[in-house]
Amino acid sequence: MRALCWFGKEDVRLQDVPDPTILNPHDAIIEVSLTAICGSDLHLYDGYIPTMESGDILGHEFMGKVVEVGPEVQNLNVGDRVVVPFPIACGHCHHCHTDAFALCDNSNPNAWMAERAFGHSPAGIFGYSHLYGGYAGGQAEYVRVPFADVGPIKVPDTLSDEDVLFLSDIFPTGYQAVDVANIEPGSTVAVWGCGPVGLFAIKSAYMLGAEKVIAIDHVPERLAMARHQAGAEVLNFTDDPILEALKEMTDGRGPQTCIEAVGMEAHGTGLMDYYDKAKQTLRLETGRPHALREAIMACAKGGTLVIPGVFGGIIDKLPIGAAFSKGLTFKMGQTHVHRYLKPLLARIEKNEIDPSFLITHRLTLEDGPEAYRTFRDKQDECVKVVMRP
Ligand SMILES: [Zn+2]
Ligand SMILES: [Zn+2]
Repeated sequence: MRALCWFGKEDVRLQDVPDPTILNPHDAIIEVSLTAICGSDLHLYDGYIPTMESGDILGHEFMGKVVEVGPEVQNLNVGDRVVVPFPIACGHCHHCHTDAFALCDNSNPNAWMAERAFGHSPAGIFGYSHLYGGYAGGQAEYVRVPFADVGPIKVPDTLSDEDVLFLSDIFPTGYQAVDVANIEPGSTVAVWGCGPVGLFAIKSAYMLGAEKVIAIDHVPERLAMARHQAGAEVLNFTDDPILEALKEMTDGRGPQTCIEAVGMEAHGTGLMDYYDKAKQTLRLETGRPHALREAIMACAKGGTLVIPGVFGGIIDKLPIGAAFSKGLTFKMGQTHVHRYLKPLLARIEKNEIDPSFLITHRLTLEDGPEAYRTFRDKQDECVKVVMRP
C-alpha cells in the first residue's frame, strides 16, 4: 500500500510499504477513505518530537471502512464505516474506566520510554513517534487499529466523510478545552491560536454557554475565519497589545477562561521571541511558550487556563508566580476523544455544527509531502488539509 512516511526534518515521502495485518485478536484493519494533517503533525515535520524513526507512517486523523477484524472483535463488522479516535485505549484499565482514555495504561508498548520522559506513560497514539507507541498512522491506504471494540465509532451514511472526520481529533480537542473549564453561562473565553483546534474551541465555547469569545492570532485568514465562521471577536498580536486589549474588553477583570491552542511552536514578538527561538534551536528548551506565558498573564484572578496545544518537554521562563498569585487552575493534556464521540456526533446530526467549515485544501496522498510544507508555512491561506488515498 502507499503511505506518507517521515524521513527526518521537513522530509515526508509517499512510499510503498507492506499492508498492515491483524497482529492481535482485538485488531481491525481499516481502509482509509479520508485523512487529515493535524497541526501537531507539524511538530513531527519540524523535528521537535523525539523518537521518530526513518520510514514511520504518519497521521492520526483518519476514517474509513472496516475490511478485516480479528477473532475477538465484537462491536465491528467488515463493511462498517468508522471514525477512529487518535489516542489508543484498552477500555478496561483504571483510566479507561474513568473516561480518561488518553491516559490508558495498556496501549503504549513503549511505556518505558515515556516513563523515562514523563514519569508515567500516556496512551499510545497513531503515527506519533515511538515514545507514544510506534504505531503506524492513518495517512495511508490502510491502517491497523488495536482495541477495535473500544475506539472506532460507526457513522451513518447520511453524513459525508467531511462531516465526521474531525471527530478523530480536532473537534473533540477544541470541545474538551472548553468542557473541562466548566465555564459559567455568560462568561468570556479567550482563545490563543485560530488554527483548527482554536476554531473548534471558539465554536464549542458558544455551544457551552459563553457570551463572548475573544480569539488571538496573527494570520489574517485565520482571524477572518475566527470572526466570520466562528463568531469570535479577534485580536492580531502583531498590531494589538494583547494584555491591555483583553483587560479593556473584560471590564478590567481579564478572561475567566483562557485556552492555549498553540503549543510548542508559538510565534511571539520582541526580545522574548528571539530568546525562545534561539533556545529551541539549541535544544535548550523544547517549546516556545509565548502564547502560554501571555495566557497566564491575561487570565482573570481565580480563572482557568486550559492547554490543548501540544508541549513535549521543557520550557523556560514560565511566570508561575503570576499563576500562583492569581489562584489559577490549570487543565491540560491530550484529548479523551472516546468520551466525546457520541455526544459530538449527535451535535453534527442535529446540524448544530458543520465541522467541514474549516477545510481549505482537498487533496490526495500524492500531494501530501507538498501539503505538509504549505500547511506549515501557512501558504495559500491553508487552514486544514484533508486527503483521499
Ligand atoms: Zn491531531
Ligand atoms: Zn486503558
